[in-house]
Amino acid sequence: MPLNKSKSIDGEMLINGSWVGGDDRTDVVNPYEGSKVGTVPVVSRKQITDAIESARDAAERTSLSAYERYELLSIAANRLEERVDEVAEIITSEQGKPITEARTEADRSVQTLRLSAEEAKRQFGEYVPMDPQKGMSRDHCFTQPEPMGVVAGITPFNFPVMLMAHKVGPALAAGNAFVGKPATSTPLSALVLFECLDAAVEEVDAPDGLVNVVTGSGSVVGEEIVNHGAIDSISFTGSTEVGKYLANNSGMTDVTLELGGNDPTIMWSDTDIERAAAEIVQGACSNAGQVCNSVERVIVDEKIENEALAALSEAASQLNIGDPFDEETDVSAMVTDEEFSGTVKLYEETVEQGATVEYGGRYGGDLGDRVFEPTVLGGVTAEMPAASEETFGPLIPVIAVSNFDKALAEANNTEYGLEAGLFTQDIDRAKRAADTIDAGGVNINTVSGFRTDHMPYGGFKDSGKGKEGIKYAVEHFSRTKLVGFHDG
Ligand code: NAD
Repeated sequence: MPLNKSKSIDGEMLINGSWVGGDDRTDVVNPYEGSKVGTVPVVSRKQITDAIESARDAAERTSLSAYERYELLSIAANRLEERVDEVAEIITSEQGKPITEARTEADRSVQTLRLSAEEAKRQFGEYVPMDPQKGMSRDHCFTQPEPMGVVAGITPFNFPVMLMAHKVGPALAAGNAFVGKPATSTPLSALVLFECLDAAVEEVDAPDGLVNVVTGSGSVVGEEIVNHGAIDSISFTGSTEVGKYLANNSGMTDVTLELGGNDPTIMWSDTDIERAAAEIVQGACSNAGQVCNSVERVIVDEKIENEALAALSEAASQLNIGDPFDEETDVSAMVTDEEFSGTVKLYEETVEQGATVEYGGRYGGDLGDRVFEPTVLGGVTAEMPAASEETFGPLIPVIAVSNFDKALAEANNTEYGLEAGLFTQDIDRAKRAADTIDAGGVNINTVSGFRTDHMPYGGFKDSGKGKEGIKYAVEHFSRTKLVGFHDG
C-alpha cells in the first residue's frame, strides 16, 4: 500500500518493553519536497539511562538458547519482510534515496536478520589440549562463547535500516541486549525494524529491555553511552570525527568503528573502458553519492584519460534526476542542506583550482533543492578538495597518472582506508594492488563500493576498526571463556 504522504508518522522510542514519547519532539523532513514526514521524541538523559539499565537488567536475566535466539531473529525477519514496501517508502520519504534503492535496502535488511538468525546456531568453542605443556598430559580445556552483555548501536542516515540491522542482528544472535540510536534525520524507518524486533521479543517471551531504541540528539546519547558504565560494546557507524570522540572517551569499553572513506577506483588501460565507466558512475552516484564506500576518486592511466572522461560523461548522462518516488529516478535529493552545501563547496573549490567540468555541474534551482547533478571532473590533482576530502555527493573527480606505481601511490594518498576498486585484465597488476593498497577491501574488476551482508567488512586507518559482516560481528559481540579441567 503506498505511503499516505499527508499523514504524519509520529514515532516513539522503545524503552524497557514500552513504546514511549518524550517532553520534546523533532521533525523528520522529506529532503526532496521539504515537507514534514513525521516526528520523533528527543530522548532525555533520564530516558537514555533507563534504556541502558533496562538492557543491563535484561542481559543479566536472559539466557535464551541458541535456538531461541534463532527463533527471535527469524520472527523479526518475517515481520520485517511483511513490511518491506512500507519500510522502503519511509526510507525514501525521510532520506531521499530513489525508491528502487530503498527497496533493495529493505530487502537486504530482512536477509541480514535471517543470516544473523542462522549464525546464532553456529557459535562453537574449541577443545584446547594441554599436553603440549610439559607435565600436563592429564589436563583438558575448552572455550565457550558468551554474550558480552549490552551492545549500543549508533547508525548514520544513509542506510537507516540496513546499518542498524547489521548491529542489532549479530548482537542478539550472540545473546546480548541492545540499545539502538538511529540518525537524527532518518529515524522513522529504523523504528519499524525495532517494532518487528519488539514483536519477536514478546513472541519468544524474552525479557522486556532486551531491545531498546532511543531517538534525538546524537551528542547527548553519545555522552551518556560513554559515561554509563553498563555498556559492554559500542558499535558505531558514521563520521570519523564522531568515531574518534567515542574511541577517545569510552575507556575500557569495546568499540567497533565503521567510519568515512575516500575510496579510489583505478581504471587501467587494459580494461573495458565502457563497462568500467558504467560501474564507476553507478558506484559514485547511487544514493546521490552518500555512501561510505562509494567511488570518491577515479585514478586513470593517462593513456586512456580522454576516452575515460568521455565514457564516464556518457554514463553520467544516462542517469535520470528527479523525484525519488519515480521508478525511473537514479539520482535525487541529498539528505540535508548541510550535506548538499558541503558538496557544492567541494565542487566550487575544485573547479576554482583548475579542474574541468566534463559533464554536469548543475545543482539546486530547477533540479530541486538539495539535488546535485552527477558531475565528472577532469584534470584533478590530489590536492584539490574533491580528491583530498570525502565528498559524500555525486562528484566523480578523475586523476590521471603515468604508470601503475603512481596509481597505487595515489590510491594510498589518503588518511582513509575503507575499500578500493581496480579495473584491469592483468593478474599481476591485480595482485600488486591487492598487496599494496592499504584498505579493508580491494575489489578487482569492480568498484570500491562492494559489500555483501555476510562478508567481513570494515576499514583501516581513519576508516575504522573492527569488522562487520554477520559471522564476524557475532564473534566480535561474544567473549571467549576458557574452562579448564585439571588433574585432581
Ligand atoms: P554522523 O557521524 O554525523 O552521525 C552518525 C550517528 O552518530 C548519528 O546517529 C548521530 O546522531 C550520531 N552522533 C552524532 N554525534 C554523536 C556523538 N557525539 N556521540 C555519539 N553519537 C553521535 O554521520 P552521518 O552524517 O550520519 O553519516 C555520514 C558518515 O558516515 C560519513 O562519513 C560516512 O562515510 C560514514 N559511514 C560509514 C559507513 C561504514 O560502514 N564505514 C557506512 C555508512 C556511513
